[in-house]
Amino acid sequence: MSLAAGSVYLDWNATAPLAAAARAALHACLDDERLGNPSSLHAAGRRARTLLEEARRTLAECLESSPEEIVFTSGGTEANALFLRGAAARLEPGLIAVSAVEHSSVYETARLLAAHGWRLVEIPVDAEGRIDPFAFERILRERPAIVSVMLAHNETGVIQDVASLARAAREAGALVHCDAVQAVGKMPLSRRALGVHALTLSGHKFGAPTGIGALVLAREVALAPLLTGGGQEAGRRSGTENVPGAMAMAAALVEALEARESLHARLHALQQRLEAGLAAQGAVIFGASAARLPNTTFFALPGLEGAALAGVLDRTGFAVGTGSACSSGEPGAPRSLLAMGVPEALARGAVRVSTGRSTTEADIDGFLAALAQAAGQLRRLAALCAD
Ligand code: PLP
Repeated sequence: MSLAAGSVYLDWNATAPLAAAARAALHACLDDERLGNPSSLHAAGRRARTLLEEARRTLAECLESSPEEIVFTSGGTEANALFLRGAAARLEPGLIAVSAVEHSSVYETARLLAAHGWRLVEIPVDAEGRIDPFAFERILRERPAIVSVMLAHNETGVIQDVASLARAAREAGALVHCDAVQAVGKMPLSRRALGVHALTLSGHKFGAPTGIGALVLAREVALAPLLTGGGQEAGRRSGTENVPGAMAMAAALVEALEARESLHARLHALQQRLEAGLAAQGAVIFGASAARLPNTTFFALPGLEGAALAGVLDRTGFAVGTGSACSSGEPGAPRSLLAMGVPEALARGAVRVSTGRSTTEADIDGFLAALAQAAGQLRRLAALCAD
């Protein structure tokens, strides 16, 4: 799939291209001159309200939740912050436990709470990026008030057993949150089945435009809002709702779920093809023996910098990530890999390939050939510099 003309886009975990159904929903809203503010009482307002509630119902159905549980936000970062900060504001400062591999939007929010009286504990992971259940049990004995564990990792694609972790955390009395941003549309998802109090999603990861997301929040949990004002979203998130975004997100999720099973099989086959080719080039694949998303491969070629490789690949027409898009401007090794015990020198070589519905075998083969060439170029350059 080309986001940029002439290039092969292999960075779907950063942002997935707009899905056809989302594009149609978006256009229908943008072209509708009778669409007002969903809080207005006149006909144009009521029309917007109807569409917003339709989107809410669709999302709730797709996520086996109820419409009242859906709080629209501007994206995953806001939904994560809304839960963590909103829950913390209603509690006495205590212990907050987040996995050591959480996305920065959870990790930095937890650090912010730690600067305001909370004690932050990082739940360790094993060498494959899975939460260590024994360490988790030990942490639960300290009775954390809030626990946050992601479902599928944005860089490694490693999937955590959130259902059993959440069960134990609830029994220990914690409010449990799950950042499911990278899992939505890629695996069956239900807040209740996972047993968490809140679930975060982000539209642009599954075919909606950027700027729309949601927190799926159990009715019994009261949060202090991050944004105050007009009291939209039942007082949980003020600000005029993004009706076109909500409609596009609902349409994208329906489309993703309809295609999920056949796409899963196809992406899994592409992943195997990619990883066989990477192994032949001497790559180390992170989290290789853990359960992973079928569209995500995080790897390094020992001795080469990930940012340098990604730069050469970009110039030859292949868009890949070097880790979380939000932090890829920062130099250094991904925090997730250091938490997995990967040596820093190897972790600095990390490159992420993430695929999607329009990725083809030819894209993967082209990528592997371009990678071999890029690696050769960089090694020759390094040898010249060493002389
Ligand atoms: N959580 C995870 C796991 C992510 O991968 C991302 C984005 O990369 C986010 C949260 C943030 O989502 P958004 O870009 O919608 O703010």
